[in-house]
Amino acid sequence: MVTLPKNYIDLHPEVEAFLSQTLPMYYGGKRAPAQSGKTFETVDPSTGKLLANIAEADQADVDLAVQAARSAYETGDWHLKMTPSERSSCIWKLAELLESHKDILGQLDALDNGKPFASARDVDVFWSAEHFRYFAGWPTKIEGSTIPVSTPGMFNYTLREPVGVCGLIVPWNYPLLMASWKMAPALAAGNYIVLKPAEQTSLSALYLPKLFEEAGFPPGVFNVLPGLGHKAGAALVAHHGVNKIGFTGSTEVAKEILKSSTGNLKRVSLELGGKSPNIIFADADLEKASVGATWAIFGNNGQSCTAGSRLYIEQKVFDEVVSGMADETKKIKVGPGMQLEPSHLGPVISTEQMNRVMGYIKEGYDSGGEAVSGGQRIEGDLSEGYFIQPTIFKNIDDEAKINQEEIFGPVVCAMPFKDSNEILQRANDTQFGLAAGLWTKDVNKAHQIAAKLQAGTIWVNTWGNTDAASPFGGYKQSGHGREMGKEAIELYTELKSVWMRIDG
Ligand code: NAP
Ligand code: MG
Repeated sequence: MVTLPKNYIDLHPEVEAFLSQTLPMYYGGKRAPAQSGKTFETVDPSTGKLLANIAEADQADVDLAVQAARSAYETGDWHLKMTPSERSSCIWKLAELLESHKDILGQLDALDNGKPFASARDVDVFWSAEHFRYFAGWPTKIEGSTIPVSTPGMFNYTLREPVGVCGLIVPWNYPLLMASWKMAPALAAGNYIVLKPAEQTSLSALYLPKLFEEAGFPPGVFNVLPGLGHKAGAALVAHHGVNKIGFTGSTEVAKEILKSSTGNLKRVSLELGGKSPNIIFADADLEKASVGATWAIFGNNGQSCTAGSRLYIEQKVFDEVVSGMADETKKIKVGPGMQLEPSHLGPVISTEQMNRVMGYIKEGYDSGGEAVSGGQRIEGDLSEGYFIQPTIFKNIDDEAKINQEEIFGPVVCAMPFKDSNEILQRANDTQFGLAAGLWTKDVNKAHQIAAKLQAGTIWVNTWGNTDAASPFGGYKQSGHGREMGKEAIELYTELKSVWMRIDG
């Protein structure tokens, strides 16, 4: 049984029972150990201590799970035998179950990822449920069209059909939410899914089989394979029985995925990294902009694909904004996500990630940067975990590595700029294009800059908003395709054109 530090919130009895077993994978409606008998460990990043042992999937398990999903697809258990309205009801019921199990799912993600329990439950689980609710409305609304073709005697119409078996591969930063972003539209469009959660955060995904069963999904529609990216993930990507891969993760792994998906030319959609510019003009509400820019980077401990990690501040208000941000940062409490006294930020996800982030911080100092706040690992009571002080650097060039590469941790570089022309060129000078933001009271300027920023999402006088109804995705090396909204339905469907002779 898992023993947690004394200052943690009491575990929900179901969480305690769940963690006391070796966690199985799930396919074809059945729980199963790995064919190899192998397991891997998941740890609490706040302490580095073991939370649970998990069955480790490899090629043999991927074969079995894909077979289970394919056979359900071939018999049409979900997309043909059930009516759209019945599918809607299942998806809606799942949303309700996520909500009624929010304490359990919230604790699992808070333990596994380290994020504050309140964030895991009231943000991640809440928005996951909302996501399923939005997509629960879609099965009855996925339509084809009738096309006025010019060939005499012909009637032509289109049908929008599921792609088939979808491998969904997700990262650890919002474990349940990133999985929900993919699962909900894939299921609404009638697909059969094999989910590969991140190795560091599989717990919430492994709790889902119970909820899918209770919601009434037929066996084989939802399958989950815990395991390592280079084994289970790679086998799923290369599998000829998989019709589509939906991937969220790093640009580096995405390039591998594109290469190894060519065997059967499966569809691939990619939600990748970012290095998002956040631009503060002198005419903005500077108090709000300072608080907004602080949370644009430090929200979820900087472990957000949309983190506002390149901060550009108009020269004449540079010192004022940076000192406002330093003041706001002083109020941030860092600590284990499950501790009784609530924290705002938890640890970063792993030793590896901590060393990576600390490496970037060292680069910051080495390239002449000055840390206005933070800049160190947090030791003392928190030395067993992977805690880093929220860090604001100034005096760093645009070209420095720390300003070009995605850090995925609580580190931002603040840089002054002179005018709109200069800032657009600098903001767009990156391989990424996931998000960008600007702060100004001038509406004309806001529209002009928003139109010229090369990114999939632009935030004006705000940061970080997403909604199941609004498309989300990247320009440039931040990805292919758009999740959410009607675009996500297009991402998870094939379009069929039917021609019929009707002139006798
Ligand atoms: P990652 O290393 O790319 O891993 C993402 C997922 O891919 C994990 O499940 C991983 O398994 C798996 N994987 C690794 N190698 C694989 C391979 N060769 N074939 C198939 N799957 C493989 O990314 P991460 O470090 O977990 O997450 C951080 C990245 O995700 C950042 O770049 C961030 O910007 C991006 N992100 C993007 C969005 C978005 O919507 N655009 C949202 C969140 C995060 P393992 O767990 O075993 O490594
Ligand atoms: Mg873990």
